Amino acid sequence: MASAAVLWFGEQMSAVPLRNNKAAASAIRTVTVLGATGSIGDSTMDLLRGARDRFRVEALTANGNAQALAKLAREFNARFAAVADPSKLSELKEALAGTRIECAAGESAIIEAAARPADWVMAAVSGAAGLKPALAAVDRGASVALANKECLVCAGDFFMQRAQTAGARILPADSEHNALFQALSSGNREELVRVIITASGGPFRTWAPADIEQATLEQALKHPNWSMGQKITIDSASMMNKGLEVIEASYLFALTPDQIDVLVHPQSIIHGMVEFSDRSVVAQLGTPDMRIPIAHCLGWPDRIVGPSAKLDLAKIGQLTFEAPDFERFPGLRLAYESLRTGRGATTVYNAANEVAVAAFIAGKIRFGAIARLVEATLNDWIRSGNLAPLTSADDAISVDHNARNRAASLLPQIARKAS
Ligand code: NDP
Repeated sequence: MASAAVLWFGEQMSAVPLRNNKAAASAIRTVTVLGATGSIGDSTMDLLRGARDRFRVEALTANGNAQALAKLAREFNARFAAVADPSKLSELKEALAGTRIECAAGESAIIEAAARPADWVMAAVSGAAGLKPALAAVDRGASVALANKECLVCAGDFFMQRAQTAGARILPADSEHNALFQALSSGNREELVRVIITASGGPFRTWAPADIEQATLEQALKHPNWSMGQKITIDSASMMNKGLEVIEASYLFALTPDQIDVLVHPQSIIHGMVEFSDRSVVAQLGTPDMRIPIAHCLGWPDRIVGPSAKLDLAKIGQLTFEAPDFERFPGLRLAYESLRTGRGATTVYNAANEVAVAAFIAGKIRFGAIARLVEATLNDWIRSGNLAPLTSADDAISVDHNARNRAASLLPQIARKAS
């Protein structure tokens, strides 16, 4: 194994450290959790609860859930607690009265939380709002466990460049990317042939196109394996989530679209695999529980004791695999296309999908129209000559904003059009 500071992918990808660095593991680690009151935040706090002797909490943040945030801040004796919604500051202050925990509100307070000196930061704010805080942690060279997809999908190139420049370590927290992160340590970049990210296939895996077109919100929310928030569950049903993950993998590990394959694996036990030049395929397995990849990020470069269920393959019996169907799930095809197009196209893909999912939840479009709206927005964006490299967070946020407006303006005609 390589010595202390050697990072996998050498000069090209040093932001994602893929060689163990045991020398760096030491005493108490300070941690900050951005998005502490969400689903990923909850899993992270659960792990911290079980390893109090190894971690001290510096800062915790939420959007508007001041009560839940204050409860966590008290429990973990955090030094700083911040809500993004300024109208919640008085509620937070009141809930923290009698403690020495500092509190603040607004977007700048979330950025301040990320900028405070914690060794390790969980970036689990949802949506594009997570970008600037994650960059604040990256810029001071922290180890950043990255759950927020938008940092990479909206701004992947410069996000990874900034991490590399600052010497920050990006620890992939999404289960598939964490699996690749673990499997990639088995070889070198020159030996890599491809990575394979698995997909459960979602609730519509076996459905006919006409049924997928008409699927209801209730049906889309019935994920077979994972318990997650509403947006990501709908994205799993459309396989847009897998598309977002293909894009994430490309930026995280500096891979071309041709080096990333998707494999449908309904049991969600194998999360990711890496094929090397000798045709060895190295996989990471585990029960579908986000605490497993988060625990890996939290302990890295060591491993902590995790509370998740032991994997019992004999009980599971069979692991099965299928090729993805790009026709029934056009969102996956569009992800590859936008990745190949580059220059902001993945930002547009994500923004249009968010508008489409919100419209589906609001009953304004059919399930099948989600991908149609994304495709129409991408085509419109490309036609209007808007493609350009993104060089700053403001650039990415501006493209995101404009693409949302464009998707919203295309929405009525997509809603009217039958499949
Ligand atoms: P949740 O919606 O459950 O939680 C989001 C968190 O971010 C909450 O703490 C919320 O605070 C906070 N938040 C929301 N908006 C803002 C804002 N504008 N400014 C500051 N904080 C904000 O999301 P998840 O935990 O499910 O997901 C977080 C990220 O991780 C997403 O990008 C998602 O795609 C990604 N991810 C999630 C997985 C999962 O299993 N859930 C798996 C892999 C990736 P409040 O509670 O006050 O609203």
